[in-house]
Amino acid sequence: MAAETPARSGVRAGGYCWAQRPGGGARCTRPLGHDGEHVDYYNGRTKPTDAAGHRWPK
Ligand SMILES: [Zn+2]
Repeated sequence: MAAETPARSGVRAGGYCWAQRPGGGARCTRPLGHDGEHVDYYNGRTKPTDAAGHRWPK
């Protein structure tokens, strides 16, 4: 059996949609193949308690 290779730089994070937001500044961190709008859960939050940051339509 082949050993699992550690994540390599430049490779898409495992399983993320990773769509670029128009205008930049965010990438979709919902699972690949999700329904509905794209959401970046890490960028664009206005306060630490926000569940998600930027959202934009597909
Ligand atoms: Zn997405």
